[in-house]
Amino acid sequence: MNNHVTILEIDAKSIQHNLAYFKQKLKPETKILAVVKAFGYGSESTEIAKLLEDKVDYFAVAYSNEGIILREAGIKTPILVLHPQIQNLKDIVKHRLEPSLYNFKIFDAFLKLADEKPLMNYPVHIKFNTGLNRLGFWHSDTPTLISELKKSNNIKVESIFSHLAASEDPNEQEFTIGQINNFAYIVKQIYQHLGYKPMIHILNTSGVINYPQAQFDMVRIGIGLYGFANNKNETAQLKNTHSLKSVISQIHIIQPGETVGYNRAFVASKPTRSATIPIGHADGISRKLGNKEGFVFINNTPVPIIGNVCMDMIMVDVSKIECNEGDEVILFNHQKHIEYMAHKCETIPYETITAISQRIKRVVKH
Ligand SMILES: *Cc1c(COP(=O)(O)O)cnc(C)c1O
Repeated sequence: MNNHVTILEIDAKSIQHNLAYFKQKLKPETKILAVVKAFGYGSESTEIAKLLEDKVDYFAVAYSNEGIILREAGIKTPILVLHPQIQNLKDIVKHRLEPSLYNFKIFDAFLKLADEKPLMNYPVHIKFNTGLNRLGFWHSDTPTLISELKKSNNIKVESIFSHLAASEDPNEQEFTIGQINNFAYIVKQIYQHLGYKPMIHILNTSGVINYPQAQFDMVRIGIGLYGFANNKNETAQLKNTHSLKSVISQIHIIQPGETVGYNRAFVASKPTRSATIPIGHADGISRKLGNKEGFVFINNTPVPIIGNVCMDMIMVDVSKIECNEGDEVILFNHQKHIEYMAHKCETIPYETITAISQRIKRVVKH
């Protein structure tokens, strides 16, 4: 029984539709890695992983604890941990997660652990920095890396990868193609000397859309699964996955001169009906949406948020619509609403959907 009134509903069919949409853009042999970090972009990582496990080749999470949650839920698919720390390496091995090794510090630490255990041919992934300047070996590290790798039977390079800095931005096409070409050159050198051919991958969602020629062996799709493609026409082909819903807790009728909420920020200029909704800034509804910047839908009609967003509540002006206490409230149920909310908060949908706090119950609709 669901006794939470505010829920984030996740549409499993939409996620499957979105995956299929990207699949048909790829060569049939290209593998797919589904990125389920940050609770599956704010959705529900274990249920989403279960939904996708027999349709994708890999999962990726950012941190080892996110991968452990998936293993503990029974997920058997290979899981790439994009940002492991030295302190997590033992747990990574214990749960058969696959680390991204991005500098000699973590590489040497993992090699030492693999030697002590000992592990045999343990799958690892080598990350190269080609311009994002966030994580990754430098091109100049390759000779040392190759000689270290050739010395060890304890680890096996399952893949070599890099990450694009601006795959969604047509103005950065030259830079992006440069990243892809440098990456291909690094891979060529490794292939020549390593004696086997790890998988290679560089594309994220926007990469798949804008640079399909660089799909190599695998692509890493994150935001696209959750309905966004950083491109209007492409997003229109995707289905919305995250719907945030609540109810009206109470309706007040206030007179001209009376105010609503903290700091008396909304002042009624005429008789006003105000509805209180149990969701606030602690749930991921930014204070930037207060004072009529944001709106919600009640009975299919948009109504503005009035006054300041509270920690646990918002108030909306329902003077112009028919509604009652207990009626459903939609904070968003379409990518356009999420994009609008992101725009008003001077951010991008990635942040808007991942910011929905864990206090809100997730309900996966199949
Ligand atoms: C988050 C992430 C992705 C997914 O990116 P999207 O733009 O969401 O598709 C892919 N690769 C790496 C390394 C990431 O950190």
